[in-house]
Amino acid sequence: MAIDSLVLGAGQEVGKSCVVVTINGKRIMFDCGMHMGYLDHRRYPDFSRIPKSQNESNFDHSITCIIITHFHLDHVGALPYFTEVCGYQGPIYMTYPTKALSPIMLEDYRKVMVERRGEEEQFSSHHIAECMKKVVPVDLKQTVQVDKDLQIRAYYAGHVLGAAMFYAKVGDATMVYTGDYNMTPDRHLGAAQIDRLNLDLLISESTYATTIRDSKYAREREFLRAVHKCVAAGGKVLIPTFALGRAQELCILLEDYWERMNLKVPIYFSAGLTLQANMYYKMLISWTSQKVKETYSTHNAFDFKNAHKFDRSMMHAPGPCVLFATPGMISGGFSLEVFKHWAPSAMNLVTLPGYCVAGTIGHKLMSGKPTKIDLDKDTQIDVRCQIHQLSFSPHTDAKGIMDLVKFLSPKHVILVHGEKPRMAILKGKIQSELGIQCYDPANNETVSVPSTHYAKAVASDTFIRSCSNPNFKFSKRSSEDEHGLSLGTRNSTPGLQVSDERAAEGVLVMEKSKKTKVVHQEELMLMLGEKKHQVQFAYCCLVQTGNLKEAKSTSGNDDQLCKSERGSRLLRRLSAKLSNEFSEGNIQDFEDHLEVASFRASVCLKENCPHRLLDGHGVRNKSEEAVYFCCSWAMADEKLAWQVISICQNFPMHEQNKGPSTLTRQSIIGLRSFQMVADLERSTCEEYKRTTHRAPLSENKPRVVQPYQHVVVEPFGDFSGLDAAAAACLVDPVDL
Ligand SMILES: [Zn+2]
Ligand SMILES: [Zn+2]
Ligand SMILES: [Zn+2]
Repeated sequence: MAIDSLVLGAGQEVGKSCVVVTINGKRIMFDCGMHMGYLDHRRYPDFSRIPKSQNESNFDHSITCIIITHFHLDHVGALPYFTEVCGYQGPIYMTYPTKALSPIMLEDYRKVMVERRGEEEQFSSHHIAECMKKVVPVDLKQTVQVDKDLQIRAYYAGHVLGAAMFYAKVGDATMVYTGDYNMTPDRHLGAAQIDRLNLDLLISESTYATTIRDSKYAREREFLRAVHKCVAAGGKVLIPTFALGRAQELCILLEDYWERMNLKVPIYFSAGLTLQANMYYKMLISWTSQKVKETYSTHNAFDFKNAHKFDRSMMHAPGPCVLFATPGMISGGFSLEVFKHWAPSAMNLVTLPGYCVAGTIGHKLMSGKPTKIDLDKDTQIDVRCQIHQLSFSPHTDAKGIMDLVKFLSPKHVILVHGEKPRMAILKGKIQSELGIQCYDPANNETVSVPSTHYAKAVASDTFIRSCSNPNFKFSKRSSEDEHGLSLGTRNSTPGLQVSDERAAEGVLVMEKSKKTKVVHQEELMLMLGEKKHQVQFAYCCLVQTGNLKEAKSTSGNDDQLCKSERGSRLLRRLSAKLSNEFSEGNIQDFEDHLEVASFRASVCLKENCPHRLLDGHGVRNKSEEAVYFCCSWAMADEKLAWQVISICQNFPMHEQNKGPSTLTRQSIIGLRSFQMVADLERSTCEEYKRTTHRAPLSENKPRVVQPYQHVVVEPFGDFSGLDAAAAACLVDPVDL
């Protein structure tokens, strides 16, 4: 199964956010925004690309629901058009503040476009009202069951009042669409907050895909200094802002500064909208930052003492002032009107938001230092005023995006709401640093990612009980921790750190009925009627003896006896050598064999030992001056065994005999794995064939068998009451 994301807007651009996601037959439209930089058909997402059933006039059957993340027009601007003109009648979900503030934004936009600029009307006031009737408001962290299969939940996103990230779940498939968000709190809103969800897909904004911001304090000081300098010299400050968000953030900052510096210069809000917006902030105080909420009982941060309503006639009044005016990117409306009059004076200051959409005056001012700006064919504006670009923004910076992606660790990431070259850089970072597949689709492209489907398995009581056994691990505190501790108590001794790494080992089996079950290892033995086997490796190793010729001549003609004698002498020498060179483990020298942990080596006198290596012609390496050592070891001592074998093979028998060993380690390993496959014995018990391998092992005939494969399976839905983080399993469950 797959999750298909059709990007209708904000693909490699900022504007008209709209992603239509299809999960297991459910189709959700995330955001329905408009592009502020266009006036033609490009201002809306191309809704005709949404798959529709035949003869369907509206989108009621093809779209399960619409989710709006926040009230900005690039996220909600096309909504009345889609519902009232295209005819979508289904449910629309948004938070309470977004429901309260969206109609104000839409109405303000409609007025600017139609009444002041004489554009053709896209939707009427009536349309906006009718559209809002379809909205179902949701609370943060409230799980909403849209229908029997689709579940959604909103999370706090910072950014602007009421902004939310949305989680959606259909079956086992899960995803989050962030909308716009901020990972650091500002003066009026908190930082984004989300649970550590298990996600197939994260769709994230990436406005500042490559920007890393320094301390907020320094940026605020820079802004205040620029404003103060301007008004002290008698200039006027124009702060074009979105009505909601930046205006409140900057006004809290200025109020505070005005009080501290005892400034009397008036601060104005342009008519209507912004003051009305402040009222909403006062009403929706629970959605604001912790600090604003805490001081609320004594002082409402949105009661601006120094701020007054601005009257159009004051535009030409002499003397300094600070004016907040909409819209933020000087794309039209009142901020443009004021800009026309104030820009020609070098005494004045215009601040710009951190981001301006292409096509707006704000964008033109940001690119280079223009002295003239063409408004239209007949109007040109002289720009002599100072320009200050605000470097704080309600959007997360690149570090914040990386932090969120790392925190959620989804299986796939889609970046939207950003600029193509920067998105490509961030995409590369997410893939290389976090190892997560990432996409940055253009508009009208579809990204398809696989979705999770859990195969459920029942857990046996014994297995569940075994999960509750503590598994304490003791480790020394890291030097970092010690450093942190020693700040207070200088002579503290390094302590032991105890952690409970509780993970149970079980075996996933498939029963005759094809039902899967996780059982305890002991249970499996009972089910199979088997005893526990120890997996053991064996290798018959050839050791050149060289200078022991002398020993041969003194003994009798019995070659076998001679070899045995040479072997046991060699064993003594080897034992001495190992004791000298080998620090790991105790070498125990028995008369006929050596032991190090589970590793055991003895002289092999068999003609056809099955653990011997063959040369290229299928003939065993024969040499008068060589002796075989039969070695065996348990899986746990794998590394140690090869260290000992390598010492055996490079054992210098004589000062003059220092030639390289006949076999390289690589060829030994290659052959060993071949033997493993050849000697593998499969279970005769048919129904367990796919899940377990076993091999008899007798004392005198060690065999090489395939070790059990260790894999980790994710916890299944039915494991209620199971508190193990993950169940380690002895078989590979992929086939199941
Ligand atoms: Zn926004
Ligand atoms: Zn946006
Ligand atoms: Zn052997």
